[in-house]
Amino acid sequence: MGWKQLFPGRGSGSERPHDVQSDQQLVSQCYCPNGHNILSAQHLYAGAPGILLKLKTEQRQGLLSLSPIIGDTERTFHGFAQQVGDIVEICCPTCEQPFPIYNVCRCEAHLIALFTSASKDYAACIGICQRLGCLNAEIISGRDLRLLNHSHYC
Ligand SMILES: [Zn+2]
Ligand SMILES: [Zn+2]
Repeated sequence: MGWKQLFPGRGSGSERPHDVQSDQQLVSQCYCPNGHNILSAQHLYAGAPGILLKLKTEQRQGLLSLSPIIGDTERTFHGFAQQVGDIVEICCPTCEQPFPIYNVCRCEAHLIALFTSASKDYAACIGICQRLGCLNAEIISGRDLRLLNHSHYC
């Protein structure tokens, strides 16, 4: 139940390369495994709060905000020198709990799950690749998750 339609004309998309379409979906709720809301009103995309994540590697850490619009690959790094190809740990910006891994990306890094309901329901989550520069992000439905039960990940 974390999805809602973006109303036509909502937000000012005038300086954006593409206007937000009325049929695009917006992440209206997003939670870490401990139930922290990770949508940030300080990181707006087309007037909507962005998804804020903490990134960690052995040497570095910083923040990443993502557009909450499904299919929009716009993202901004904060205090983190992006090196395309690096694999990072993706954590909650509040409690630093890493998000759970649920599958393997086409690039062979892991996809982690961001929950779009506070009940940690894998039927309502979005996946983000751990590899910087890989823009793979997908909406996982309940049907897809049943298929994933046959994979070898635990
Ligand atoms: Zn948290
Ligand atoms: Zn990937």
